[in-house]
Order: sequence, then structure tokens, then C-alpha cells
Amino acid sequence: MVNENENHGQRELEPPSDEELARLEMELPDIALPADSELLELPDLENMEAAIAAEREARRIRYLASLPRLKRCGAKTRSGKPCQCWAMPNGRCYLHGGASTGPKTPEGRRRAIEAMQAGWKRWLEKRKAKGATGG
Ligand SMILES: [Zn+2]
Repeated sequence: MVNENENHGQRELEPPSDEELARLEMELPDIALPADSELLELPDLENMEAAIAAEREARRIRYLASLPRLKRCGAKTRSGKPCQCWAMPNGRCYLHGGASTGPKTPEGRRRAIEAMQAGWKRWLEKRKAKGATGG
């Protein structure tokens, strides 16, 4: 089974599909054995079915959780009507959700600084090539 917490929501393994679960059910042993046989210990079929049912239920919950929230933005527009755009997780659409406050992660901040420095260097080199001194 997959521990989603350890992967920050990224799954290394997909849960088995319904087809796979159906195939597993098909592969349950179907062997006729004498009633007193001690050669094989058959798996606990009752518990296996419970495990399969639990996995199905977990898959159903994950599926429902993955569905997009059917929610509109609802911000008041210039026409006075509520905005009908689909809402982002913050409850507003991309037009009404507020401006970005910039990169958050250390890598993102470093990329942003590098891009600024690179742009500044390009500008400076252009100026030098032109021979401009000021203004
Ligand atoms: Zn909106």
C-alpha cells in the first residue's frame, strides 16, 4: 500500500485498478481439495474480500477527493453579477484570486534572482556595445 504522507501527496505506486482487483478476485484459488487435506492452507477468503472491499472504498474516496470542486468564483463583477469562472483552491478564479506574492521555495527565489541578474547583465552589455555612457 502507498503512504501518501511520506511522499507529500506524490504517489510512487498507483492503487490497483478495478480491473486488477477483479483479476485478483479471479485468481483466488479454485482448487478442489479433500476435506482433510493439510497440504495447503487456503487464504482466509472472508478477510481477503474485506481487504478488497476496503481497497475499493479507499479508491472511491480518493476518486471523490480528486474531483474538481464544483464551485464558482462569485466575485462581484463590473456588471454587478457574480463571476461565473471556476474557482481555484482559494475560492476565487484566476482573475479574482489576488496577485502572486512571488516565489516561495529557496530554489524558486534563487531562480528569480538569477533571472534578474541575467537580465541586468544583458542590458549592461547592450549599453556597452552601443558605447552609451549615461542617460
Ligand atoms: Zn472570478
